[in-house]
Amino acid sequence: MPYEGFAVLLNEPGQAAQVEAVTVDSPGPGEVLIQLHSSGVCHTDLHVKTMNGMGMPFPIVLGHEGAGHVLEVGEGVTHLAPGDPVVIAYRAPCEQCPACRRGDPRRCWAALRPKQRIARKRDGALCSQVLRCGTFATHTVVHGKAAIKMPPNVPLEKACLIACGVVTGVGAVFNTSPVWRGARVAVIGCGGVGLSVIQGARLAHAKQIIAVDLNPVKLEWAKKFGATDLVNAKEGDPVAKVRELSDGEGVDFAYEAVGLSECIDQAVRMLAYAGTATHIGLPEENAHVNLNLGDMDTGVYWNKVCLRVCHAGDTLPSYDFPLLAQLYLQGKLDLDGMVTREITLNDVEEAFHEMETGNVIRSVIRF
Ligand SMILES: [Zn+2]
Ligand SMILES: [Zn+2]
Repeated sequence: MPYEGFAVLLNEPGQAAQVEAVTVDSPGPGEVLIQLHSSGVCHTDLHVKTMNGMGMPFPIVLGHEGAGHVLEVGEGVTHLAPGDPVVIAYRAPCEQCPACRRGDPRRCWAALRPKQRIARKRDGALCSQVLRCGTFATHTVVHGKAAIKMPPNVPLEKACLIACGVVTGVGAVFNTSPVWRGARVAVIGCGGVGLSVIQGARLAHAKQIIAVDLNPVKLEWAKKFGATDLVNAKEGDPVAKVRELSDGEGVDFAYEAVGLSECIDQAVRMLAYAGTATHIGLPEENAHVNLNLGDMDTGVYWNKVCLRVCHAGDTLPSYDFPLLAQLYLQGKLDLDGMVTREITLNDVEEAFHEMETGNVIRSVIRF
């Protein structure tokens, strides 16, 4: 007997997301069925809506930042049992690609996925799941290796944020471009990901963390999460200001969490000699950046800079998610302050609207 529940679906391009009754089949071999406890609302869900499904067939179950409890395990799943608390990973390494085969699963570009097991109840249409997750739903089926067991005492309404925003920001600092103790760091863009970069830099014992944003409210958040200096990019050239704040030398690491060409260029030009810029924010399809090579102070050649790209914190979820949960339990990683408000499944459209217009770090759906 399939389970019956509800999910936030995109039924057609251009339509609002709607709560619909769904049926969810039992998990197949290697899969697990999860009863969701909570899910963060991330910009990527909004992108899927505004970009008409991003190539996924409709209907689509939104959501990819979820936590819940295992309800049923499929054949061959031995590392989980019903009742286990889990956070769902959208990048469980595929174990087949060249990166996985050479033992470097953080560079995997594929991911394990379940078969389609969620159907719209009124007509039986099989649903796609955003990033193989589909967490704006009372129930979902994911690949067993994408369900990461949490310590029993972690509140899942906080732990769900680890799945995307937090692991992306902290992972950029821990995995993509590791910050050394005493480094000088700049962070451009202080939304959920940028604030997580700031937390990562604080955990890595950076001596200076310069937050850059246009919004004074976000800069205040940045200070709360560990920024030592604030630069409002509306009040003059942020590159000049960051270089001035770092004794005229520039920063060792600059993280860009916006996705704008102009900000990538700024990140590169605010670096100290042999510094590393890291591009995290999702760019537009036709975005370009025209980097200066030959300027003696800030050019790519003479300043010997490195530019890296970070996808989802280059995470290895089975290792990183429990680590981040542990850092939360030890009071070292602030997840509580990341939740701006709790909402229900019916409030997703409103949460999207707030995301575009208001000052929101994360809305979290509670089931
Ligand atoms: Zn996300
Ligand atoms: Zn792989």
